[in-house]
Order: sequence, then C-alpha cells, then structure tokens
Amino acid sequence: MQFAAVEKPKRCYAFPMDVSVPTPPTLHPARVRPVSARASRPRGIYDLSLPELEARVADLGFPAYRGRQIWKWAYRQLVTDYLEIGNIPSALRDTLANDSPISLLEPVRAVATDDGETIKTLYRTADDQVLETVLMLYRNRATVCVSCQVGCAFCATGLMGLARNLSAGEMVAQVVGAAREARLRGRDLTNIVMMGMGEPLQNYVETMKFIRIVHDPAGLDIGARRITVSTSGIVPKIEALAEEPLQINLAVSLHAPNDELRSQLVPINRRYPIATLMAAVDRYTAKTGRRVSFEYALMRGINDSDATAQDLATLLRGRLCHVNIIPLNPVDVLPYERPDPEGIERFAHVLRTAGIPTTVRYSRGLDIDAACGQLRTNELGLTTVTRAANDAESGGPRHLRHVGK
Ligand code: SAH
Repeated sequence: MQFAAVEKPKRCYAFPMDVSVPTPPTLHPARVRPVSARASRPRGIYDLSLPELEARVADLGFPAYRGRQIWKWAYRQLVTDYLEIGNIPSALRDTLANDSPISLLEPVRAVATDDGETIKTLYRTADDQVLETVLMLYRNRATVCVSCQVGCAFCATGLMGLARNLSAGEMVAQVVGAAREARLRGRDLTNIVMMGMGEPLQNYVETMKFIRIVHDPAGLDIGARRITVSTSGIVPKIEALAEEPLQINLAVSLHAPNDELRSQLVPINRRYPIATLMAAVDRYTAKTGRRVSFEYALMRGINDSDATAQDLATLLRGRLCHVNIIPLNPVDVLPYERPDPEGIERFAHVLRTAGIPTTVRYSRGLDIDAACGQLRTNELGLTTVTRAANDAESGGPRHLRHVGK
C-alpha cells in the first residue's frame, strides 16, 4: 500500500509533503479506510450545547433543569458513565444511556513521561479510528493538546492522509479525559491548544461548537484567552474567526518567510501565499486587538539560516505578534532534521535582536512519541526511528510508564 498523502496529496495544508520518501512501510489496512468527513456518526452528550441538552431532556418528557444537572455532572464532576450520576431519575438516565452515550471515545492506552508531567492518551472512535491527545502539566497551568481530525496532512499522522473530521463531542471527550487525568494529579485543566492532529479551520463548524462547549461557564469554563487555534493559514477561515465573539488565540504555522520555501513546506501557501496570509492576519489583529503567534518548525539546512531569520524578522517587523520556534521533531520517513542547539539559539537570537518576541518551544513528550501523531503511528504499525533518535539523544531508552489500560 502506498502513502496516499505522499503519492497524491488530497487536502494537504501543511508540511512536509513535496518530498520523495523511501518505500513506506505497510499500513494496517483495516485502520486506514477513508471515511467521509460527513459520515453519519453517533452523537453523544458531548456534542450538545447546554441549551441543546436541556431541549433533549425536555423532548424526553423531563424538566429542562435535569439537563443542567447532567451538564454539571459531565463537566464539573467529570463523570464518564451515567451510572455515576446520582440525582436524576433512573428512567431518564436509562434512556440517555441507551441513545446518547456520554463519551464516544474509548481510551486505548495512556503513557506518561518519566517525570509524569506529560501524559499522552490514545483513543479509539466509535468507527474504529485512532487519535491521540496530550496533557502537559506545567507549574502554573495544565494544557491539553487536542486533535480535531483523524489523520491530517502532517508529519507522522499526515503520512496516512486525512481520514475524517472529528465531531465537537469527540474533541470535548479529549478535554474531559485530560481534565480527569489532571484532577487525578490534584490539578485543574486550564488551557487548550488545538495543535494535535488535524487542521481546525478545515473543520470549522465543529471546532467552533467544541470551543463554545468547553467555554460554557456552567461547565468546564475554559476562558477564551486560554484556548489557542493553530492553523496552516486558511485565509477565509481566519477572516471568519475574526468575526467570532469569543476572543480565542490564533497561531499560524508560518515555517518560512518566503513563498518559494513556504509553498514547499506548507502546500496551502500556493492557494494563500504569504502576502495574502499576512493581510488576513493583520485584519484579524486590527479587529480583535489580539497578538498572533507564528509557529516556525526549525529544520536544519532548510529554514534555519541567519539570512532566513533576517527575512523572517523583516516580514514580521511592526506586527503585533510572537514567534514560537519549534525545533523539528524528526519523523523517520521524512528527510528533515532538527538543528543543533546552537543553531536553534542563533536563529532565535537574530529574531530577538530585530525586536521580534521569540520563544523556543522544545516539544514535550518526545520519549513517549507525543510530539506529532507518533504514538498513533506506532499503533497503526508504522515503524519510526524517532524513538531511537530520542534514545540516542538521551543516552538510552527511557522507561515508558503505562498509566491507562
Ligand atoms: N493544523 C494545525 C496544527 C498543527 S500542530 C496547523 O497547521 O497549525 C502544531 C504545530 O506543530 C504546527 O505549526 C505544525 O506545523 C507543527 N509541527 C507539525 N509537525 C511537526 C514536527 N514534526 N516537528 C515540529 N513541529 C511540527
């Protein structure tokens, strides 16, 4: 079997696609069937807003306030089973348990880094797709990295092509799962980044619905300013986002300061080149007053020269922005490498000297393949040298502590 996304990029928004790759390993055929983004899928409680849940409960012949009670059990107590819900009539509970499951995702496996600060969970959907979510515990915040599509034209996950959009409820389930993991460790989940598998602005309607659900003050109550949507640069949707009432953060995967290079790394650039993208970002900033983050995956010999850093600084000068440099997480079948630490620091230094606020974001969870779809990739039978590379970096294999089933 060939890699669909490499052979024939269908909807590839992100890097790196235009490369020749060694013969790909065989994928697990049962797991790679493409399904339509609109395939009819079961909808669970997490797919409903609070008013929709109240309406559903009323349709079943119960007072609407019962809906609010269930909402609180789901998002305050974080129950994932109707049996744990105490104060609602069993007739309502049984009906809902039959036709509206709480979670549609089944946790398959969870692994934590040695320090326990990064926990990655692999989930299986009702239609047997596999996806992953990462919880990162910091001193003063706990952030979940949510997937919004199964597969995606990205790195390890992208090699399988896009399988389908996730529903709002499937995204909510990842957040509740992370909130439960955080709570087990005495922590509250505080932040959400849409930087897992998938392109959120390609799944716009469900993504926005998801954001409204997790933002609801009667439920998870995650502040809009603590939610970040990361996009490869789908201009019309950036414009739509600027019109949304919620003041969420926008991150744009830039990765290159000129069209020639960016079009190679991020194919959507051919459709929305840098000038068009920047104009949309400027309108977004003007409209929202919010600072935009630019992500820049640093790749040795590709986009990491001093001259490229200067070009990037020139492009961004005068803009209300921030650059997040992400040293590349190597993916075995792609011929890109991470620069050495001096190269990374030098690149950041050029930007900072030019007055561009810059952070180097060392990925968490490399030892558990948490960086970019790699746990899922392994689950599906793709080999990866990422683990080996990381072992080499850290002086030997690190112990994987299984924290889930
Ligand atoms: N689809 C969204 C989210 C992608 S993940 C987007 O395009 O923005 C978040 C960031 O990680 C993106 O900037 C993405 O380009 C980057 N990324 C993906 N694979 C990576 C890898 N192997 N190493 C470093 N960064 C990577």
